[in-house]
Amino acid sequence: MCPACSDMAYTVAPLARLIEQLERLPGIGHKSAQRLAFYLLNLPEKNAADFVSAITEAREKIHECTVCHNLTDQELCPICRSGGRDASTICVVEDPRDVLAFERTREYNGLYHVLHGTISPMDGVGPEQLRIKELLARVAGGEVQEVIMATNPTVEGEATAMYISKLLAPFGLKVTRLAYGIPVGGDLEYADEITLRRSLEGRSLL
Ligand SMILES: [Zn+2]
Repeated sequence: MCPACSDMAYTVAPLARLIEQLERLPGIGHKSAQRLAFYLLNLPEKNAADFVSAITEAREKIHECTVCHNLTDQELCPICRSGGRDASTICVVEDPRDVLAFERTREYNGLYHVLHGTISPMDGVGPEQLRIKELLARVAGGEVQEVIMATNPTVEGEATAMYISKLLAPFGLKVTRLAYGIPVGGDLEYADEITLRRSLEGRSLL
């Protein structure tokens, strides 16, 4: 029983609400939510206000890059803005966190395209919910020579890579898939830098 929120005699409604909100965060169980709630309660006023405004500001200012759909607080993300990237190669990833994973390798100098998910009929996610038509529009511009399908090696990631590669076929460009240094069913985000670099170097035609 949690004295802060389950035991009626000790219930403090605002504290219970705070714990309830924290418990909704990924990877946070009830005990951790409780610990965080008490930590936040004990923060100096200024730090607590900074914490709240960081959430509000991030929510207000961060949106998708109009070109690659990575997250940014400007019209274009820093990668699309940078003049030094190879615009003939686009690496297609599921999630903005995958962009960070590739950037950490310092191996890749092309551009990205963030799908924001994978096709997953079980979860009600169809192709139209992903940034697929935006990818096709970019490719139609004519500058792109290679599209690297870097979705995760999961059932959904594979299906999404295959689906998109079929749509890309009429453009006559090179479509490649990451090599499998990454364990099947694994998550790109958690792949170490060497594994990710090798899978990029060993990519093959799809
Ligand atoms: Zn961008």
